[in-house]
Amino acid sequence: MNSSTPEYRRNATPFLHGQETETVSRVLAAGQYGHTEVTEEFERKVAAFLGVPDAVAVTSGTAAMHTALLAAGIGPGHEVVVPSLTFCATIQAILACGAAPRFIEVAPHTLCVEPDAVAEAITPATRAVMPVLFGGRAIDLSGIRSALDRQGIAVIEDAAHAFGSYSGPARVGGTGDLTCFSFGPVKNLTCGQGGMVVPRTPEEAATIRRLRLLGVVASQAERQAATSYHVEAFGLRYQLSSINAAIGLAQLPGFKTTEVKRQRLWRAYRTALHGAKGVTLVDVDVDHTVPHLFVVRVADREVVFRRMLAAGIAVGVHYPPNHLQPAFAQWRRSLPVTEQLGREILSLPFHQHMTEDDIHHVAATLKRATGNGR
Ligand SMILES: *Cc1c(COP(=O)(O)O)cnc(C)c1O
Repeated sequence: MNSSTPEYRRNATPFLHGQETETVSRVLAAGQYGHTEVTEEFERKVAAFLGVPDAVAVTSGTAAMHTALLAAGIGPGHEVVVPSLTFCATIQAILACGAAPRFIEVAPHTLCVEPDAVAEAITPATRAVMPVLFGGRAIDLSGIRSALDRQGIAVIEDAAHAFGSYSGPARVGGTGDLTCFSFGPVKNLTCGQGGMVVPRTPEEAATIRRLRLLGVVASQAERQAATSYHVEAFGLRYQLSSINAAIGLAQLPGFKTTEVKRQRLWRAYRTALHGAKGVTLVDVDVDHTVPHLFVVRVADREVVFRRMLAAGIAVGVHYPPNHLQPAFAQWRRSLPVTEQLGREILSLPFHQHMTEDDIHHVAATLKRATGNGR
């Protein structure tokens, strides 16, 4: 593929705002590639952007969820309520703690969990709920919040899709929940690879900082000035490299462009597909969301998928249900709504290099592929 390839033929690609190369070059020349001041500057800038006192940078969204779960005390013998319809990383993070996923259904019109489904899935072993903010849409569990609190059940948000979205007046991450972001290659904001946890308390922040640095508690300067270091507890190699942090730092000032462009593209699809028979939009609440995906539901998805590929459109599926995956067979239960959704969902190409002309072309192709206008 080269630069003359139409954007609708591409799967999502990272969007650079312009300063990334220069910022990374400066870090490369400085010669410190581990967790450095640059990483800490990125943490401070993200915290300020979200309006929270603190944020802890890690290597990935998966690492963010793993450390958040551990910091919330999740371990063997515990159950974590989670939608089956998510990226497999959410489930692997639960298994990494030795806990068990309790798969639940999502609402077909949003692909997000609803409070009733969460409440019904709770057992005496439940210690956490992981809502997945599908497509970037905020999830409101306030109706069952006090019941969850009473039972000692933590809410840990998989907000990998939702950087920049709003939950009421606050940004997602700024509502007091334990929130996990991904800054992977094609997320709303990218570090190349990276992730961030918004902790609920200073103690939780300290625990995650210890977990991400192999259990060692000391600043870079302290470690360099001493003949030893203290390994205080269990830990992992999860710190965010200054090289990756530099990419994120360069992205933040351009985020308004991301917000505006992604909302405009999402609305362009909605308008272009208005009235298309047999095509149902998955709603992201675009007015409050920085959309990450554009998903529709169609009957005969396998046929439509192949027709779109044959027409040169880079469609995808987010996601095959996890409760049907061989790795998670032990925790399988019957989830008819999710199984039906798994046969209907189709993601249209959605990334910031696309133009509104690209959107119109994809929408017209989808209408033909679904038998509209015949
Ligand atoms: C990307 C993603 C993750 C994992 O983030 P990584 O940074 O790739 O580890 C988790 N959940 C969802 C829904 C995602 O889209």
